[in-house]
Amino acid sequence: MPEPKQIFEEYYDVLLRNAHDQHLLLGLSRSVNAYRESRAKAMERFPHTAELAKEVRRLKEDCIEHLDELVEKATASLEENGAKVYYAETGDDALKLIGGIVGSGKVIVSGKTLTGEEIGLRHYIEALGNEYWETDIAQLIQQVRKQKPMHYVFPSLHVTREDVAELLTKFLGREIPPDIPTEVRAIREFLRNKYFKADFGITGCNVLGADTGSIFLLESEGNIRMSSTVPPVHIALVGIEKIVPTLHDAFKVAEVVWRYASFTVPLYVSMISGPSGTADIQCTLVHGSSGPLELHVIFLDNGRSTLAKDPILKEALYCIKCGACLFECPVFQLAAGYYGGRGYFGGLGAILTAYMSGGFEEAAPIAYTCLRCGRCTEVCPQSIDLSRLIPELRHRIVEMARS
Ligand code: SF4
Repeated sequence: MPEPKQIFEEYYDVLLRNAHDQHLLLGLSRSVNAYRESRAKAMERFPHTAELAKEVRRLKEDCIEHLDELVEKATASLEENGAKVYYAETGDDALKLIGGIVGSGKVIVSGKTLTGEEIGLRHYIEALGNEYWETDIAQLIQQVRKQKPMHYVFPSLHVTREDVAELLTKFLGREIPPDIPTEVRAIREFLRNKYFKADFGITGCNVLGADTGSIFLLESEGNIRMSSTVPPVHIALVGIEKIVPTLHDAFKVAEVVWRYASFTVPLYVSMISGPSGTADIQCTLVHGSSGPLELHVIFLDNGRSTLAKDPILKEALYCIKCGACLFECPVFQLAAGYYGGRGYFGGLGAILTAYMSGGFEEAAPIAYTCLRCGRCTEVCPQSIDLSRLIPELRHRIVEMARS
């Protein structure tokens, strides 16, 4: 592990280099403007969303106090629906579980999974000798660029169409012009070939209703739907903070997520409660129909239970990963997701990094970069008060360094 001073220096070096990259700033500003316009339209058309967000905040407050019960309830429901369910205390446990299911020499397609980023899933599965493809277009762009995602909902928001054309021309070995529909079509052709070869599909989860064991996956590309239904085995990696008591609650959370992420409605909402099945012959249920033969659900703790017990910082677990805060953050607008850790971004990301992905050392420079301007809180559907949380995190970091 490098010394804290070195971690700070390396982090600020990356941050400053990117904050001075005019090309990155061009890509970012195009995305920020387009996002703001879409979000304003979506909120104007569905003005009840702000009230619903308040309800979701109260719901999440309650859920974080009852994580164990929710995991138990969700596990029972999923098992009853025919899924195999596991509990991973740590990221390493989750990697071993997934590695054990997948083995080696396989093809894997993955829908966007933040929990996967958190634990370094792709690199682990590739190191076992597998072919692993991100299927979200922005995630795939970042995979090919050998860079981490830069935002929860728009992982390559800083990349211009000109960059994408250059990247795809090299990657696919044919000329792709800087025309967005042509770029998307080229990626579509590449990915469709992979879905039908894949042995496993891996996804995350936006929210899970415990009473029915239903995993909600929100998207517009159709890639998550393809990844979760075409391969014979679907693996879902679910952070335990994503569980809410009922299916009805899950719908409420889902609507708030997509609206604050700037969508009037996502083009696809998948609700997966078990492996495919049919009762068409003699009304007798058999699993393994046209969809996956198996559904494996891995509940991931990895620091969440510890964070949930913190009287102040537990507020970070109310985050529903809509990404609205990042578009208003002055630091993010200069440095994109370089202002963040593995899988988590911005000031809120510092707390999640400390407890869930990189530890306190990695979180420290991110926490000290936060300006505490409060612009994130103004747009956050969960009203997460980072101006209050960040000093608390800094305090913990100092205490940790002294001990
Ligand atoms: S902190 Fe708030 S605005 Fe930011 S991603 Fe989480 S819920 Fe969305």
